[in-house]
Amino acid sequence: MKLVTYLGDKRPRAGVLDPDGEAVFDIGRLLGEDADIGVLELIEHWDEAAGRLAAPAGEPVPLRSLRLLAPLPRPPRNVMCVGKNYRDHSREFARSGFDASSGRGDTAVPERPVFFTKSPGSVIGPGAPIDPHRELTRCLDYEAELAVIIGRGGRGIPAGRAWEHVWGYTIVNDVTARDLQRDHKQWFLGKSLDTFCPMGPWAVTADEVDATDLTVRCWVNGELRQKASTRDLVFGIPELIATLSAGITLRPGDVIATGTPAGVGIGYDPPRFLVPGDVVSMEISGLGTLTNPVGEGADAASPSQAAEGD
Ligand code: ZN
Repeated sequence: MKLVTYLGDKRPRAGVLDPDGEAVFDIGRLLGEDADIGVLELIEHWDEAAGRLAAPAGEPVPLRSLRLLAPLPRPPRNVMCVGKNYRDHSREFARSGFDASSGRGDTAVPERPVFFTKSPGSVIGPGAPIDPHRELTRCLDYEAELAVIIGRGGRGIPAGRAWEHVWGYTIVNDVTARDLQRDHKQWFLGKSLDTFCPMGPWAVTADEVDATDLTVRCWVNGELRQKASTRDLVFGIPELIATLSAGITLRPGDVIATGTPAGVGIGYDPPRFLVPGDVVSMEISGLGTLTNPVGEGADAASPSQAAEGD
């Protein structure tokens, strides 16, 4: 099943995408009025919701007519991410000189998963512009990633039972300001600027795909930049869940971005950073295509108002 969050009547609503991928059944009221959190409420009550969602009623709305939001427009807490989780990408990152977490020329693939997080406030939906933050960075980069959405929470989840805790998947573009990532010696800042976490186009339940062998591809302005299979993950999904949950209780709706393959902007010599007007598209088999333009950015001289209070 594919679940979408979209803007209806100025408020996020949840819907089920029909199997041909062209129409959406509104389910925003299925579990009451509290649909602001997108499909999160459904994930939290999945045992109750799944049966009813399998045969949604009502008149479907054409997908094309809807403005999609991220399936989890505001995740309950930081998006958890894994760095250097494809061998070829670890090498290109080490070579680039932007990796403050390893020595220059250090090509070693990490021995344990490298975790960092992105702010929930950085999440945007499909089609929404990425703010290039030109006043802060000239090293804007893209990273196509398979993202796991946790269903049943838990602590101390052994790798052998990890799949039972996976609700489904989506695509995340782990947008990164490489100069901030390098200069601040820690990745949170350079990866959490507003709009730096495009997510979508929808959430797909775990039964629909085999996450151990999905093709991840990314294009910039139509040029293929990244292509790999999730077979090549250094640390697979069960190991990531086991490692994180060893001391952190995972909760429904937690998002874990599993790392990016080779072919990001800093993998090129000279680097090929994103600039205003570029269009980034990423596709993962069975999960759809997430496309976001790079916007012109706010005028640095007139700071934008604080976002809707939350
Ligand atoms: Zn990443």
